[in-house]
Amino acid sequence: MKLFDVYPLNNITIVKAKGSYVWDDQGVQYLDLYGGHAVISIGHTHPHYVQRITDQLSKVGFYSNSIHIPLQDELAEKLGRVSGKENYALFLCNSGAEANENAMKLASFFNGRKKIVAFSKSFHGRTSLAVAATDNPNLVAPVNQTDKIIFLPFNDKEALKACFAEQGKEISSVIIEGIQGVGGINVADASFLQLIRQLCDEHGAVYIADSVQCGYGRTGQFFSHDFAGVDADIYTMAKGMGNGFPVAGIIIHPRIPAKHFMLGTTFGGNHLACAAALAVLEVIESEKLMQNAQTQGQYLMEELKKFPQLKNLRGRGLMIGFDAPDEQKEFRKNLLWNQHIFTGEAKPNTIRLLPSLALKQKDIDDFLESVKEELGVAENA
Ligand code: PLP
Repeated sequence: MKLFDVYPLNNITIVKAKGSYVWDDQGVQYLDLYGGHAVISIGHTHPHYVQRITDQLSKVGFYSNSIHIPLQDELAEKLGRVSGKENYALFLCNSGAEANENAMKLASFFNGRKKIVAFSKSFHGRTSLAVAATDNPNLVAPVNQTDKIIFLPFNDKEALKACFAEQGKEISSVIIEGIQGVGGINVADASFLQLIRQLCDEHGAVYIADSVQCGYGRTGQFFSHDFAGVDADIYTMAKGMGNGFPVAGIIIHPRIPAKHFMLGTTFGGNHLACAAALAVLEVIESEKLMQNAQTQGQYLMEELKKFPQLKNLRGRGLMIGFDAPDEQKEFRKNLLWNQHIFTGEAKPNTIRLLPSLALKQKDIDDFLESVKEELGVAENA
């Protein structure tokens, strides 16, 4: 059997990883500013993380959600504290798409409605509702097509108001990324998120904050939506939550009540996943990684501003995007193959930086030197 060929691959085999670095099977070291797609939050193979998962594995790795799993309560308590959403309730699942799927489903159970507002350039995952709410027709199979999703332009307050004025009674939820990731690092305006909160309150709709990529401390706040100073009804999270261990979740405002069997999963919240997620939060707290994301993000942003060749610099904390020069279509590839630096991308020519929240200033300085070289502006060039 061979693999189903759905990913265009870089011909690199990673065999070792530590902190913000990975090494290939030829011994080449790479700076990882991609974090395996915003997943590596506390750094690769963090010793506390390795230890906690290893210890748990030797006790019990998995048992089903039919029994009491105290690690889940511990995780809920800690997540509430670190995120500042102590009165919310946690439902655990396995991936970002599943988190969004559950959030939209829960909203519909709650208010009995069927329509969902999503935005241009959104990405919410590849399962049925999540992909239907994703603004990329290439990902939507005929079976996923539905007239239940209303797409509106991102950050367009007038369009949002008009939509609620017309269809407010039918709208179950509004789903929005605080900073669009796959769409190219587009920051939602605080006033736009505030308007979503207001309209959802006025019309009985549910505000879903997709924080799968922009959450978990990446922006310096636990959720990037926090910058707007309003609370969402449901936050979805995944990627950074397990630092690579597949674990995801949604947290739910107390106004939305739970009923037995309305949501469920076999693997979600298993012992190993909880151990991984707890280790991540413990390190985020003990190493003050949200603060680090803010400080290093600010430094990186300020330094990148010094390159006039890099256009539309945008983002928050350690979620940063910029457009590479038009004449350098291979900028990202050159960073990888010439400079041994992993970065993310968005079409056509956006570079996305999604490193570990433990990134150090020295790593940033190394990156900036490499940018200089690739732009042909190195001091000795
Ligand atoms: N939501 C956002 C904002 C994402 O960036 C992603 C993945 O990139 C998802 C949802 C889907 O997550 P997953 O791939 O874990 O299903």
